[in-house]
Amino acid sequence: MAATLAKADDRGPRSIVILGATGSIGKSTADIIAGAKEAFTVAAVAGGRDPIALARVARDLGAKFAALADPSGYAALKDALAGSGIEAAAGPDAVIEAALRPSDMVMAAIAGTAGVGPTYAALSAGRTVALANKECLVCAGPAFVRQAAAMGTRLLPVDSEHNAIFQALGDSDLAMIEMMTLTASGGPFRTWTAEAIAKATPEQALQHPNWSMGPKITVDSAGLMNKGLEVIEAHYLFGIEAERLDVLVHAQSVVHGLVAFRDGSVTAGLAAPDMRVPIAHCLSYPRRLTTGARRLDLAAVGQLTFERPDFARFPALRVALDALRAGCGLPTVLNAANEVAVAAFLERRISFHDIARLVEQCCEATLADGTAHDPESVADALAIDHIARERTQALLAQGSTFGMVTAC
Ligand code: NAD
Ligand code: MG
Repeated sequence: MAATLAKADDRGPRSIVILGATGSIGKSTADIIAGAKEAFTVAAVAGGRDPIALARVARDLGAKFAALADPSGYAALKDALAGSGIEAAAGPDAVIEAALRPSDMVMAAIAGTAGVGPTYAALSAGRTVALANKECLVCAGPAFVRQAAAMGTRLLPVDSEHNAIFQALGDSDLAMIEMMTLTASGGPFRTWTAEAIAKATPEQALQHPNWSMGPKITVDSAGLMNKGLEVIEAHYLFGIEAERLDVLVHAQSVVHGLVAFRDGSVTAGLAAPDMRVPIAHCLSYPRRLTTGARRLDLAAVGQLTFERPDFARFPALRVALDALRAGCGLPTVLNAANEVAVAAFLERRISFHDIARLVEQCCEATLADGTAHDPESVADALAIDHIARERTQALLAQGSTFGMVTAC
C-alpha cells in the first residue's frame, strides 16, 4: 500500500501495541503502519495460535515483543524470530504482558471474548484503546466505560459504524441527538427467504458481499447478530439509550452511520467499505494520515438504498435488541451464547436457524432461574459469561428436545 503521512503526533512517532495482529483487523492495522513507518513504532504484537504468521508481522513491523496465546507454539515462535532481536513469549499471561508494554495506543483486535482480559488490562494501565473488539463492550460494557472514565483515557471506535458516528458527532451535545443509526449491509442472505436462510451452510454464511473479515464476525453479519452486538456496543460507547439507536439495511455499505439531531439536521459518515479507513482514523486520532485505502466514488456507486431490517427473517437482531432492553446482564449472556452457537454452526452441529434460537433460549433460561444481574466488574461479567457458555452447551446437548434442526 502506498501511504504518505503527516506525523501522527508532534511528539514523534506514536507507539502501538497490536492485539490480534494476525487477524483481519490486525493485518489491516499492519498495512497502515507499514505504509506510515515514520509515524509509528510497534511496541508489541500478540496473536492466538499461529507462530509463523505472528513472527512475520513482528518482523515486518519491527516489533519489540511478540506474544502468542497458545503456549505450545512458543518454540516455533522463538525459532521464527531467531536473529531478529524480537523478544518472544507465549501463553495467556504473555498476551497480557503485550497489552501492558509501554505504548501510546493499543489496537484491541482479538476476536471474541478472549479479547476482554487483555483489552481491560490495557485500559486499566491508562492506554488509549482503539477498540475493534466489540465483544468487550457487549460482555462487560459498564466496567469498560467506568474504567475509561476513571483512568481519563479513551476508547476510540474502530468498528466502521461507530467510527462513522464518532466522526459525524463532532463535539455535539448528546441531549440534542434524536437518533443514532447504524447501517447493515444485510449480508449474503439479504434477499433470501426465511426457509433458505434457515438451511444456509457455513460456506454460504462465510461469503460476505462487501467486507472481508474473520469467520466469527462474518457469520454474525450473515444473521444480523453482528448489528445487534453493534447496537449494544454503541449504547455503552456513546452512552445513549436503546430507544435512540436505530438500524437500517443499506446494501452498498457506503453510509456507515448517521446522527439525526433535534433541529432536523442529519450528519453521516461515509467511506468505501475498507476497514483501513476507520483504523487509520483511530491510529492517528486526532490527526489524519494519508493512506492508500479504497476511495469512495459515489458516481460509480450510483444509487444508495435503505430499508428497515426484517426481524422475521433475521431474528438474531431482535434477540440482541431484546437483550439490550432487558438489561440484567443479558447482553453478557447473549454474547457468550452466541460465541458457542456460532462455533457449533461452523462445526456443522446446528443449522443457521438454530443460532438465534439457542441464544434466545439461553437468555430466557437465565431470566427464568433468577440469576440474571448486571455485571459489577469484568470478573463478574466473565463469571456470567462462563455460566452462559455452560448453559448453551447443555442446551446444545439436548438439541433434539428443543426441536433444533441439526442437519446442515
Ligand atoms: P480474526 O479472526 O480475523 O482475527 C482474530 C485475531 O485474534 C487473530 O490474530 C487471532 O490469532 C487472535 N486471537 C484469537 N484468540 C486470541 C487470544 N486468546 N490471545 C491473543 N490473540 C488471539 O478476527 P477479525 O475479523 O480481525 O476481528 C477481530 C475483532 O474486531 C472482533 O471482535 C470483530 O468483531 C471486530 N471487528 C472486525 C471487523 C473486520 O472487518 N474484520 C470489523 C469491525 C469489528
Ligand atoms: Mg461494524
